[in-house]
Amino acid sequence: LGKRLNTAINSLTQQSAIDEQALDAVLKSVCAALLESDVNVLLVKRLRDKVKGKVLPQLEEIQAKQGQDADAMQGNKAKQIIQKAIYDELVALVDPGDAAPPAFNPVKGKTQVIMMVGLQGAGKTTTCTKLATHYQRRGLKVALVCADTFRAGAFDQLKQNATKAKVPFFGSYTETDPVSISLQGVTKFRSERFDVIIVDTSGRHRQESELFDEMRQIQDAVEPNMVVLVLDGAIGQAAEAQSRAFKEASNFGAIIVTKLDGHAKGGGAISAVAATNTPIIFIGTGEHLHDLEKFSPQPFISKMLGMGDMQGLVERAQEMALANPERQEKMMKKLEKGEFTVRDLKDQLATVMGMCVAGSFLRSSRSTAFELLTGKCRAYAYRGPLSNLASMIPGMSEMMGGGGEEDVSRRMKRVAFIFDSMTTEELDSDGSLFRDSVPSAKGKEKEKDEEKDPSNPMGLREPNKRVLRVARGSGTSVQEVEELLAQHQMFAKMAKRMGGKNGLMGKLAARG
Ligand code: GDP
Ligand code: MG
Repeated sequence: LGKRLNTAINSLTQQSAIDEQALDAVLKSVCAALLESDVNVLLVKRLRDKVKGKVLPQLEEIQAKQGQDADAMQGNKAKQIIQKAIYDELVALVDPGDAAPPAFNPVKGKTQVIMMVGLQGAGKTTTCTKLATHYQRRGLKVALVCADTFRAGAFDQLKQNATKAKVPFFGSYTETDPVSISLQGVTKFRSERFDVIIVDTSGRHRQESELFDEMRQIQDAVEPNMVVLVLDGAIGQAAEAQSRAFKEASNFGAIIVTKLDGHAKGGGAISAVAATNTPIIFIGTGEHLHDLEKFSPQPFISKMLGMGDMQGLVERAQEMALANPERQEKMMKKLEKGEFTVRDLKDQLATVMGMCVAGSFLRSSRSTAFELLTGKCRAYAYRGPLSNLASMIPGMSEMMGGGGEEDVSRRMKRVAFIFDSMTTEELDSDGSLFRDSVPSAKGKEKEKDEEKDPSNPMGLREPNKRVLRVARGSGTSVQEVEELLAQHQMFAKMAKRMGGKNGLMGKLAARG
């Protein structure tokens, strides 16, 4: 969905004249993408009308001015207005509105019970462990209770997950009464002064009413501070009916939508839930322990559109500027000019690593990767996994190969080796010397013969000599080096776009 929306929105940039026709064309593809993601037709229609209502008057104003000012500038302004309006409405689409996320912030020293409800296969058991890990990372003492006595193997599944996450758990192979078991578990962990106790319940019953009865009984027994409904994102707009049904049976306080990785209908599920004004607190984005993200509308849309979480990034940048004002000022100056050298990318990556490691450094040995990049630790405040921070920076998560924490830090080490193998000249360049075709030793003769070259029947392009040298020197591959350089180019382009008086940096500077 993100890709399709992105293509639709960016198609404007190729358009020369921005008029109502161009607006309709973009809106048509945006709406098609949303409908394909199973967003409700009425919501899609509302989005279209709202964007039109907002943009058309401004468009007319701009058209009136055309001829006075440079047309190109007005055209750019029109594009921005449209893009901004679409972005804002997409955010509104997934915003549960005034249903502000509940003030549920478990703290140390007070036992809070969370009960998970939802249909079989929604992702409850998986999400329980993810949530436990999330709170554990914040220094809380967390335990899991398995109240799913219905499905054979349910306890084993929870046990396995909990063991992997190093979370204490409670359950039984013989007890068949879910109410009794959850009460035993919660009582035990309460007396042991756990901060957060998460109760996993069963989901499958022949009769919905049986499931709801069981839910209510457990709820009465353990008196949870928070009931969380877990919804499978793949069900699309059916999420609305499901959450309404659960709402009547057990007044849950918050929702977690799972399986938003790769499922085409995720947009439909989120917008459907938002339409019921229920707070979505987290989303599940994978099968692994760390694939749980806090949900809020703006970063969600930004990320989906591949824009990164600009807001989060600006906050981090501010923290960073506080910690190292001179260096940051230098960087801002360069960005204002639209410059971005290979070394700038290296520095930025080092800073990102610094921010993460300062937060997580006592917990893991990730400091080694960090030391590789910078040699020392700074007191930045970011606390969270590297992969999270990476996902806030446009293009960064792809660059780090996506994947979990391990993958990211392994990849970062390799990236550090690549930078280390570059010369000063290369680092301070704009990267173009890696793209210049260096005539090969055999010169023209070889070029002519290329088609016939028996050792290269596919006519594969020879890598740039510098790229080859760096790949060899760093013990990485040509592909990795080329990927890094492509990322650099992307950042450099972004810097160019952001630079200058009319760019983002210029605007930030003007604001003070
Ligand atoms: P439960 O019956 O509600 O307890 O659901 P489970 O936790 O057993 O999950 C059912 C299936 O969904 C499992 O195969 C999980 O690995 C998978 N799953 C859960 N959450 C996610 C997610 O966010 N992304 C993906 N891709 N799979 C998930
Ligand atoms: Mg389960």
